[in-house]
Amino acid sequence: MKSRLVAVLLALLAGAALSFTAPASADVVAADGCYTWNRTLGEGASGEDVRQLQIRVAGYPGEGGVLALDGQFGPGTKAAVTRFQQAYGLGADGVAGAQTFAKLYELQDDDCTPVNFSYGELNNCNSDWSGGNVSAAQAKANALVSMWKLQAMRHAMGDRPIVVNGGFRSVACNNAVGGAPASRHLYGDAVDLGAGSQGFCALARQARHHGFAEILGPGYEGHDDHVHVAHRSGQFWSAPSCGI
Ligand SMILES: [Zn+2]
Repeated sequence: MKSRLVAVLLALLAGAALSFTAPASADVVAADGCYTWNRTLGEGASGEDVRQLQIRVAGYPGEGGVLALDGQFGPGTKAAVTRFQQAYGLGADGVAGAQTFAKLYELQDDDCTPVNFSYGELNNCNSDWSGGNVSAAQAKANALVSMWKLQAMRHAMGDRPIVVNGGFRSVACNNAVGGAPASRHLYGDAVDLGAGSQGFCALARQARHHGFAEILGPGYEGHDDHVHVAHRSGQFWSAPSCGI
């Protein structure tokens, strides 16, 4: 966000020097340290800018849904954008324009993580994301998507901090903690949550609305002391003590 402010100031200075009219608001000069969208996006649009948007609204697919991160702005993306807009009190038309992008800039750090989560939190195994079941770059990209899902979940639960106990594991780290051989932690998209102020069952129940195809919690073997949320193909939710 800092570099966005710098960009706004620079733009204002440039405008003054060239006798241009200064932009009316920061939304117009939508520069951001992580990623800047340069056009309004609605149904039918496609491209990398759509995919970047999809990553950031991946936590709004509706209950049991998983938003495809395919760069194609279809009905699912429109619905996710609409839910995001509703969550933040924006005009909810399912079209991502200046207001929606401004909110996303406000919510993201310069490394593209949502403001309330960090790469470090999601990797207490190693420093370079290597040694898992996917490339280091893919593991880190997967973790980023999980963080945006968690940001949506956090906001839906009153913006109280969510306790993250860990995320990515290399094969060595996974073996050391006795993780399952096919654990999603090896792919970077699994996150283990502490009880926090919300409690395990509230977290597990809420996770169903934010794009987590895998939810394991109290009552499922080995998950009485944390809630595990992750991506996977197909849905597997089990937290019997929470009625899931
Ligand atoms: Zn886990």
